[in-house]
Amino acid sequence: MDREVDMVKTIVIVGAGFSGTALAVNLLRSGHAKTPRVILINRSGRMARGVAYGTNDSRHLLNVPAGNMSLLPDQPDGFVEYCRRVDPSITPKSFVSREIYGNYLEQSLTDVECRNSSGSGLTRVVGEVVRIESMVMADSQQTAAIHLRDGNTLHADHVVLACGNFAPASPPLEDSSFYSSKRYIRDPWQSGALATIPTHEKVLLIGTGLTAVDVALRFAGENPSRLCYAVSRRGLMPQAHRSMDKAPVQFDASPLVREMGVHVRGYVRALRQQIALHARDGLDWRDIVAALRPHTSALWTRLSEAERRRFLRHVQPHWDVHRHRTAPESHQNFKTLVTNGTLRTLAGNLLRIREEGNSIRVAIRLRGTTNETSVEVGYVVNCTGPNSDVRRVDDPLIRQLITDGVMSADPNGSGVEVTEDYQLVSSQGQCNDVIRYVGPLLRARYWEATAVPELRQHVQQLANILSIARTGVRVTAA
Ligand SMILES: Cc1cc2nc3c(=O)[nH]c(=O)nc-3n(C[C@H](O)[C@H](O)[C@H](O)COP(=O)(O)OP(=O)(O)OC[C@H]3O[C@@H](n4cnc5c(N)ncnc54)[C@H](O)[C@@H]3O)c2cc1C
Repeated sequence: MDREVDMVKTIVIVGAGFSGTALAVNLLRSGHAKTPRVILINRSGRMARGVAYGTNDSRHLLNVPAGNMSLLPDQPDGFVEYCRRVDPSITPKSFVSREIYGNYLEQSLTDVECRNSSGSGLTRVVGEVVRIESMVMADSQQTAAIHLRDGNTLHADHVVLACGNFAPASPPLEDSSFYSSKRYIRDPWQSGALATIPTHEKVLLIGTGLTAVDVALRFAGENPSRLCYAVSRRGLMPQAHRSMDKAPVQFDASPLVREMGVHVRGYVRALRQQIALHARDGLDWRDIVAALRPHTSALWTRLSEAERRRFLRHVQPHWDVHRHRTAPESHQNFKTLVTNGTLRTLAGNLLRIREEGNSIRVAIRLRGTTNETSVEVGYVVNCTGPNSDVRRVDDPLIRQLITDGVMSADPNGSGVEVTEDYQLVSSQGQCNDVIRYVGPLLRARYWEATAVPELRQHVQQLANILSIARTGVRVTAA
């Protein structure tokens, strides 16, 4: 019998946020006697949470309705059913807290772990992977050695990097010495980071997107009269989801996708025209943006490198605020902060940030002018969002993989280069048989890959690939 078919292989997953947890659940849920041995390694916080769902602040809501957040694409009601056991009033249109979603992920992992007690099972490891080497064994089988910070080494047939969202990069400044100050919070998601800021202090948020909304709402909850500033180049703020009392209208985007052509200018023109045309018939722009979602990867793939750069430079900020919207309640609360003056938003470029005694002076060139304005605050929080440029990520594992040429960044810094089987592509253009990636850095290849509705598809596809690589049997639901 073919040895490859008979062996139970070991799959190491690095990272237990949404992607790593969902992959473990997909791999183990068949309950098949030959399900793989899965080792799930997580560096920080609780398993099955990650950056997004590790919050215990009930003001932090999902920005996707509950009905679209099931872990498994083939069980679309999974999350709503879980929610209804917690609170029967929750519907598929509800925007529930991210903490509840974390509880659901944790429960899903525990359930599959219990169901799989007869299989090879799941091993949870709390630790940080700092180095991975792929090796060819005497029988020409490829394996990987996974080195942990505590000195331990694990061996696996397949490694999946599900290491997710990296801390934001500090925006460039002529003099960046301020970034070493204790009054600068580079990573607002780092456990306890925001708790170091006294509640009476004025704060400048760098960024006006979803992270800024999270942070501003948290600060307002701590002290409703605390003054915050939020600055970004364009000062654009995320749009709101509709209150979901009206059912979304189904819109066939195929003719629009054809009309868009292969240039960013054509994309923008055709989309604007469609939105204006259908607005007259009462169709909401959100329905057209939603209808484009299944086509986004194809639209991204057909752009040349130069056109992708054009998109990232000129269109992405506008696309992001329309595509990645906030829950209506979060949006309303955020708007109230702006209206009552406790949150002041600015559009402009950061010029200088200087610490002067116990305060910080920030100089900003206002957008479209040569005018400089300055604000004085006690702290600065970087709310520019996850850093997807792996060439600039401050992480030992990523640094090693990049330095060794095992991982390569896409030229625009939007993520990592992978094959359609999620294998890492080396700096020499070769695909790696042992190390794969799944998570938001798939954006480089697919663009639309950061939220659960897309990530769960990628995760399921990867689970199928790994299970075929192992036994020739596809993963199926129990
Ligand atoms: C604040 C925020 C809110 C969001 N809200 C939503 C939402 O409402 N709906 C939605 O659909 N999407 C949302 N998203 C998108 C989000 O990217 C995905 O939903 C998903 O959480 C990504 O999960 P991940 O597991 O790939 O990454 P992460 O959540 O970042 O998890 C990665 C995990 O890997 C661990 N890790 C990293 N490196 C190592 C290492 N070397 N060794 C061991 N462990 C390691 C980390 O500690 C972490 O636990 C949000 C994103 C953010 C940042």
